[in-house]
Amino acid sequence: MHLKFIGLILALALPASASAALRIVVSVDWEGRNLDPQNLAVMEHFRHDYPKIPLQHFLNAAYYTKPDTDAPITTAAIRSVLRPHDEQGLHIHPWRSLVQAAGVKFRTEPAFRGPMDLSQCDPDCGHDVNMAAYNEKELQKLIRFSIRTLMKHRFERPRSFRAGAWQADNHVFRALVREGITLDSSATSAEYLKERWGHSLLYPVVGKLWPQITSTSQPYTINLGQGLSIKQLPNNGCLADYVTGPVILQTFQNNVELWKKDQKKDIYVSIGFHQETAQKFLPQLRQGIDAILQFSAKENVPVEFVVPPLKL
Ligand SMILES: [Zn+2]
Repeated sequence: MHLKFIGLILALALPASASAALRIVVSVDWEGRNLDPQNLAVMEHFRHDYPKIPLQHFLNAAYYTKPDTDAPITTAAIRSVLRPHDEQGLHIHPWRSLVQAAGVKFRTEPAFRGPMDLSQCDPDCGHDVNMAAYNEKELQKLIRFSIRTLMKHRFERPRSFRAGAWQADNHVFRALVREGITLDSSATSAEYLKERWGHSLLYPVVGKLWPQITSTSQPYTINLGQGLSIKQLPNNGCLADYVTGPVILQTFQNNVELWKKDQKKDIYVSIGFHQETAQKFLPQLRQGIDAILQFSAKENVPVEFVVPPLKL
């Protein structure tokens, strides 16, 4: 689609009215693996083409704990694709360097890629370890260290969170709440992962954690006991590595059907991509967003791109 046309649709799709709308949250998971200039360039291009779409970043402090990291270069690389209207949240994969820097003993299992060969742990490993393997005290240390590290490098204090590989359960949530996190977005439908991860641990583990989640699951509160609770914004459209443009549009259309039943209520759609695979998969998200904008303009469906999802 011509860029000017996209701009026009965006302007039409972002009304200032306070009435109910389809509220789309576009998230980015920062894995803590690397900051490849090619992926950042693709993100920069996205920011240029869609200036009115804010991003909900789930940042990972593990970029700073890798051996030989140059902190100022790391910060500048991350900041190059952040914009003032974005949200800066937190993402954790329990990389060995991060876990050890937080003063916690590194665990190697369960890991969704199978048993880990520590002799291959150079320069780092642990991305695929389930963070729920750590106990609550260890998790609090890991979360606190991650937040402090990001803030030390002048990022905002995160209030939103997504667990690596969507693997968060109630004891992870209790640790998050105790460290000041108020919103989680780790819930997703395992069905999105079946094709690529059906034969790995990832698919059954996500399915067991989030059996009720579908493409139209809406925000809800998780009560954790002891007076604690956390808000859940389901990642109901999953991430672009697992969904094509037409699948993203289908998720949106499923939610439009939900909105039609009660047009006084906001309906949330959470989609996104990974920084580390932006070059490969961000095009799929762009296709999905373009298709959503075309569909909503044609069908007169009010759409807003929002972060943080304040109305929750
Ligand atoms: Zn991740």
